[in-house]
Amino acid sequence: MKKNIAVLAGDGIGPEVMNEAIKVLDKVALKFGHEFEYTEALIGGAAYDEHGEHLPESTLKVCGGADAVLFGSVGGPVDAQDDPKWKGCEKTAILGIRRHFSFNINLRPSIVFEALTDISPLKKSLIGDGFDIMIIRELTGGIYFGKHETSDENGVRVARDEMRYDENEVRAIAKVAFDIAKTRGGKLISVDKANVLDCSILWRKVMEEASADYGDVALEHMYIDNAAMQLVKNPRSFDTVVTGNMFGDILSDLSSVFAGSLGVLGSASLNADGFGMYEPSGGSAPDIAGRGIANPIAQILSAAMMLKYSFGMQDEYDAVYDAVSQTLADGVRTGDICSAEMKAVGTSEMGDEIASRV
Ligand code: NAD
Repeated sequence: MKKNIAVLAGDGIGPEVMNEAIKVLDKVALKFGHEFEYTEALIGGAAYDEHGEHLPESTLKVCGGADAVLFGSVGGPVDAQDDPKWKGCEKTAILGIRRHFSFNINLRPSIVFEALTDISPLKKSLIGDGFDIMIIRELTGGIYFGKHETSDENGVRVARDEMRYDENEVRAIAKVAFDIAKTRGGKLISVDKANVLDCSILWRKVMEEASADYGDVALEHMYIDNAAMQLVKNPRSFDTVVTGNMFGDILSDLSSVFAGSLGVLGSASLNADGFGMYEPSGGSAPDIAGRGIANPIAQILSAAMMLKYSFGMQDEYDAVYDAVSQTLADGVRTGDICSAEMKAVGTSEMGDEIASRV
């Protein structure tokens, strides 16, 4: 298969970890007989230096002409956010690209590899031999996008936020969620608050209707409060989770800490046409940028997600995932996931080790 990939490495550790993702993609291409063509474009502070803006039209054009977008990270040091180069950088670049391509679905995996159970904040007895949960969040609807209003009613300040979903929005994410659940453990948990909210009652009905087309996926419903508790108490009982914007925001951040480091988690944003952008869950990590010590696994797993969800390459995804898992099991670690008695490797060596196991 021939695929054109837009590569937006961005700022901070972005270019360093992106090199390693491309190294692994090249190995996949070689092993499986694919041809990946990479078109690089500037974004974030790197684009500002060249074009005076964080998301130039030329970058959107490169992305629009590609089969998928592989994104690194953007943004400068936290104490330099007022510098014109960094001011509003993350917001302009990321929200801008999401809006431009109407990315309305967010995939946030929460993976604890067996070899990394010791760095997870969860107890070993809860983790067992590790787990792999996929949280699918609706991204452009719900209460964050409803009408917001603060008023004065007889001298009392009152605030209102409107939550709205229509059945088409829910049906669209239901389809993606069932399709993804089918390629995983075949179990989909839909999270809502249907004991209180009309939006959730509709959400639940539409999920039920959609399940009729997916006899091979077991659908379960769970209230958000219970889901938050169960994710911590019994994470291994989850496989694929689908939920609305606000609940997904909270659950995906909650479960991102289970891995023990931001350096190992990928993510994706998809639109209704299946076009996707893939990026690490963490940011540009200015505190360690340029030192060759960042963990490239998040970027490598983001690239693997691109293979699976944009190109339909399940075997290739599995090959990368297994290579990461095996590398960790063999005791190869970057500093963020290393224990005191282990010797940390650098970004490039970690990339070499993973590529060699693909
Ligand atoms: P961050 O995620 O960049 O860093 C948080 C901590 O995690 C740091 O200690 C960092 O060293 C560590 N870390 C992150 N990724 C790592 C990796 N691959 N390997 C090893 N350690 C890793 O968050 P922050 O410090 O709050 O933000 C820094 C900049 O990143 C800001 O400018 C912010 O706006 C931007 N940001 C960008 C994105 C994005 O591009 N999607 C997301 C979040 C933050």
